[in-house]
Amino acid sequence: MQFSSYEDLRSQLFSKAITCEEVVRSYLERIDRHRDDNIYITVFHDAALERAKALDRKFQEGGVPGKLFGMPMAIKDNLAIKGARLTCASKMLGSYESVYDATSVLRLEAEDAIFLGKTNMDEFAMGSSNENSAFGNVPNPFDKTRVPGGSSGGSAAAVANDLAMVALGSDTGGSVRQPAGFCDIVGLKPTYGRISRYGLVAFASSFDQIGVLALNCDDAALVLGVMAGKDERDATSSSHEVPDYQAAMAGVSVEGLKIGVPSEFFHEGLNADVARIVKGKLHELRDQGAELIDITLPESDYAIAAYYILVTAEASSNLARFDGARYGYRSENSEDMAAMYVNSRSEGFGREVKRRIMLGTYVLSAGYYDTYYKKAQQVRRVFQDRYREALEKVDVIAGPTSPFPPFGIGDKTANPLEMYLADVFTVPASIVGMPAVSVPVGFDSLNLPVGMHLICNFFEEGKLLGIAKQMQRSL
Ligand code: GLN
Repeated sequence: MQFSSYEDLRSQLFSKAITCEEVVRSYLERIDRHRDDNIYITVFHDAALERAKALDRKFQEGGVPGKLFGMPMAIKDNLAIKGARLTCASKMLGSYESVYDATSVLRLEAEDAIFLGKTNMDEFAMGSSNENSAFGNVPNPFDKTRVPGGSSGGSAAAVANDLAMVALGSDTGGSVRQPAGFCDIVGLKPTYGRISRYGLVAFASSFDQIGVLALNCDDAALVLGVMAGKDERDATSSSHEVPDYQAAMAGVSVEGLKIGVPSEFFHEGLNADVARIVKGKLHELRDQGAELIDITLPESDYAIAAYYILVTAEASSNLARFDGARYGYRSENSEDMAAMYVNSRSEGFGREVKRRIMLGTYVLSAGYYDTYYKKAQQVRRVFQDRYREALEKVDVIAGPTSPFPPFGIGDKTANPLEMYLADVFTVPASIVGMPAVSVPVGFDSLNLPVGMHLICNFFEEGKLLGIAKQMQRSL
């Protein structure tokens, strides 16, 4: 049982051609067949079937179906579902069970979505390849020797392999968009504050946003609309009105659309296939009436440096709570309390997480604060100004999602800096907090997917998805 979109599934459910139970069974069967791929950390075999049966009963009894009635979804394993394991793909939380639900999870559930399980990821969402997981690698759906991207690698592979119709991810610097690009699906990171972060395990709180991975822009818009909006439990969630995203998407026309193309996004180091495919797609839109406008974002080279100073600073503080005392992993053999803290953290966290805690502690230390952290904050402000200025002149900023196609498993693990470059194009939107999306636009000479990355102004998710849809449609 496969569906081209949620609309397709919904109409078959409504015409009683199929039931939620049958749908869930077919997804669970596929999930079981893909077990060796490590895509899910936890599968809700029983709970998902129970839920499907309950929804079928509700429908038969004339209950009003929710907006996501019967939608089979996957949830990244850094989002809380009450009573379910919440591992963040870390040994630190390997057996931890959440005692409450994330707001996004509650809102999806209230609209009759069905959760199939929790997906694999880089530990605490730190990584670009899903290789930093305590639960093993996830293969790229198009080439098993390559990575699916990260950190939401499990969520992207789940959607691309039809093991979920839509998946939630989290995006701090590209973790929804980059794996979407690597797996040939749509990945949306909304405006900072658009979706409540309550129940999302914090990595870098001033960057983190829950995002949506889907087969198409309409499904992404639908799920965004359900989750978006103010939440009393997250003070940084925005009270900006939630528009009708489908209507906003329908209002987008290619004719006269001003697409800003920054020269910095097409530098020499860019993979030739990626450049060719992304430019080809932009030229296609120009032929359909869009205007391509050369713009320049001269500070782009500083994005990665500023990002890794700011997020490691925030991470070192956020991850201080994992001390072995309150919950999570505790080292067995420690002589005193100080040793218990040290051993629990040394044994519980993986290499990349430790690297970031050390880096973050360093940039925040008294002697270096001004040189690194303060400077990076200033760079963040410059980025915000530049992107605002650019988006006064154009509707959208376009470029590749990643400078290279999916790379081989193990290729970049020895060199963190090279790994960090995988997000060079996605990080700026996170620095400024603007919404951005990756949309599939083609395949390279090795038949690996290439994504187009689009950035719009704050709270313009409808327009952003409308433009992305135009690009995906004419594939
Ligand atoms: N790959 C980036 C990092 O490692 C982004 C991660 C994310 O968005 N969660 O920080």
